[in-house]
Amino acid sequence: MTDSRKGLLLINTGPGKGKTTAALGTALRAAGNGMKVLVLQFLKGSWHYGELDAAEALNTQAFPDSFVLKQMGRGFVKVGGAETDPEDIRLVQEAWSEAKQAIYSGDWDLVVLDEINYAIGYGMLDAAEVAEALRIRPEMVHVILTGRNAHPLLVELADTVTEMREVKHAYQKGILAQKGIEY
Ligand code: ATP
Ligand code: MG
Repeated sequence: MTDSRKGLLLINTGPGKGKTTAALGTALRAAGNGMKVLVLQFLKGSWHYGELDAAEALNTQAFPDSFVLKQMGRGFVKVGGAETDPEDIRLVQEAWSEAKQAIYSGDWDLVVLDEINYAIGYGMLDAAEVAEALRIRPEMVHVILTGRNAHPLLVELADTVTEMREVKHAYQKGILAQKGIEY
């Protein structure tokens, strides 16, 4: 019988809350199985997310160097049309280049590219290029892409695609982002 292990491409997309946190949940699950996990957060930087410290604590305790989380952007990103700052495009391209390298390095069992769908949606990154690089990646590497409006090329390529649907969100009642829930 052939080996049933296979690297999957997963996408968490849609307008509801839970895309990044579901990816982090999977990352926790993988790390707990002794797998090496890299999370690269595109378009982020100014907030301090709890998962940064949680990942570090995991590394230093039971699973050395098994759960690495890096924020690649710089906080507030102004995007869309002519307003997109070339510096943000440069940072996204740099993040993508690091992501590709990581996926091909053989060092990681799971690579999460958090918010990469936004970078593609805003035209900061070419969907066809990303799809091709993911299609020919080393067979055993799992990859998770997150962010609204996943590109059709990537949805087609992916094995598992989940669309978060918004039923309601606290923000609509004027409740601001809560520590531990949003960041
Ligand atoms: P999370 O990181 O909480 O899993 P997400 O990855 O699904 O959220 P993003 O589009 O990355 O969603 O946005 C992140 C932030 O926006 C979070 O603080 C989240 O609570 C908030 N958010 C997500 N969905 C909504 C929504 N439908 N209305 C208002 N705020 C939202
Ligand atoms: Mg997110």
